[in-house]
Amino acid sequence: MSTAEQSAAILPEVRQFLQAGPLAAFVGGCDMVSSNGEVFQTCDPGSKQVLAEVYALQPDDVDRAVRAAAEAFARSGWARMAPNDRGVLLHRLADAVEKRKKVIAQIESLDAGKILAQAEGDVQNFVDTLRYYTNMALYVQRRSALAVSGCEAWTVRHPWGPCGFIFPWNFPMLLVGWNISPALAAGNTVVIKPAEDTPLSAIYLARLAKEVGLPDGVINVVPGLGHVAGAALAGHPGVKRMSFTGSPEVGRLVGAACGKNLVPVKLELGGKGAAVVFEDVNVRHTARRLVEAITFHSGQVCCDATRWLVQKSIYEQFVEECANRLKKVQVGYQLAEQSQMGPVVNQKQFQRVLGYLQRGCQEGAQSVLEGGPAEVAGRDGYYLKPALLAGSLDNVAAREEIFGPVAYLAAFADEEEAVAMANHTDYGLANSVWTSDLARAQRVAEAMVAGNSWINAHNLFPHGVPYAGVNKSGMGGGVLSAETLLDYWRPQSVVRPL
Ligand code: NAD
Repeated sequence: MSTAEQSAAILPEVRQFLQAGPLAAFVGGCDMVSSNGEVFQTCDPGSKQVLAEVYALQPDDVDRAVRAAAEAFARSGWARMAPNDRGVLLHRLADAVEKRKKVIAQIESLDAGKILAQAEGDVQNFVDTLRYYTNMALYVQRRSALAVSGCEAWTVRHPWGPCGFIFPWNFPMLLVGWNISPALAAGNTVVIKPAEDTPLSAIYLARLAKEVGLPDGVINVVPGLGHVAGAALAGHPGVKRMSFTGSPEVGRLVGAACGKNLVPVKLELGGKGAAVVFEDVNVRHTARRLVEAITFHSGQVCCDATRWLVQKSIYEQFVEECANRLKKVQVGYQLAEQSQMGPVVNQKQFQRVLGYLQRGCQEGAQSVLEGGPAEVAGRDGYYLKPALLAGSLDNVAAREEIFGPVAYLAAFADEEEAVAMANHTDYGLANSVWTSDLARAQRVAEAMVAGNSWINAHNLFPHGVPYAGVNKSGMGGGVLSAETLLDYWRPQSVVRPL
């Protein structure tokens, strides 16, 4: 049977949603087309077919969206609603998303080239995150009395107002959940700029929010091009708090725009994580886990382990085990059940990965597993085979974020050298250490300079554990924990002399 024949059938609701294009933005509770009628196309990376046309918002349109969010903040009652009443509405939204999980997951899978089961996991993660913050917000004291002599004093937490969010294409729905849930639970209103490659799930979500009764203007979605709609949102003086997830290059622009307006900004940026593998590991198990990590969403994961640092005594055995496993990874269409790794998101990403493989080898890296374009029967998409390079960590492929199914191998002699190699990077998002010696695991985990260290695992995101980057990987606070909810309240002190 061909790959196409084994693919899940497109659901009628998905077909209907896609065919209703050009799809409009969602602003102030209504569909909104771009003021100049401009549209852009979003494609299925597994077939290069156009999925839908979407209106590309212009700066004036983004201005209307921020005003709609400000209006909803000031007048809809959302910001002043009792936390439990707001909680009811947010739980209704979580329930509605969960009920439509299959539909949203299929939309996401088609749009991002994401394996269907993983897209379902992302949608469920959205639901869980929304419920997590909604419940937490019920129990956070808004007023806290302070014990000071001669005064009555307290602090009070207020929502900020309209908050802006700019997202990348790799985890559209999941990242929307991680970022807007605390903002909404705290009583803010939001303007979401999805990536131009994956605008669909955010539009679908905004419509659902209206359906379940969130006041108009609480969730606004402004699809469009980054340098137009994204830049207009980042530089809008009416935005009270900004959150950007994406590349360090664009993060700098967003940070500068927010700096100009003195708007607090959270930047969640790229990474070049290391996995440090000591000789006392179970080689087969560790190789399996790291192969799963680098092939998960075709390696388009910011916190992936892309530098595999392996102790010399097991290096050859480990490399052989990984290469054998990577050769067996089933590359295929994202809706096909047997596929383990789908396409990369677009032509630019496809060429970027191939370019790094070429430049890495030109700079002297050894090609352990060649990678390159993969053939998928019956599909003309952006498919790549996993690749392994090895050599000096000064190589371009070891230094820069590739964002594809490519791992870079290097050997170390001892713990000190391993830590130095892991820290030989401008990034600081996530690393892992693999060893059966838990004392060493703790030492190495804490010595690696990054926002996140994992032990005998990679890519772990339990709700309640802060997730953020340092250095070139981000600033301004993280996501996924209680601190994130607190970020979405502006603090105020009130003092009265006695
Ligand atoms: P990108 O920076 O190119 O784009 C991200 C978003 O910014 C898109 O919505 C885009 O339209 C918008 N944008 C582009 N130019 C803009 C401008 N001038 N002003 C304002 N907005 C603009 O990133 P990408 O290619 O979509 O995503 C990949 C990157 O995201 C990688 O570096 C990856 O590591 C990073 N990422 C980080 C995290 C994290 O949590 N740290 C999570 C996912 C992805």
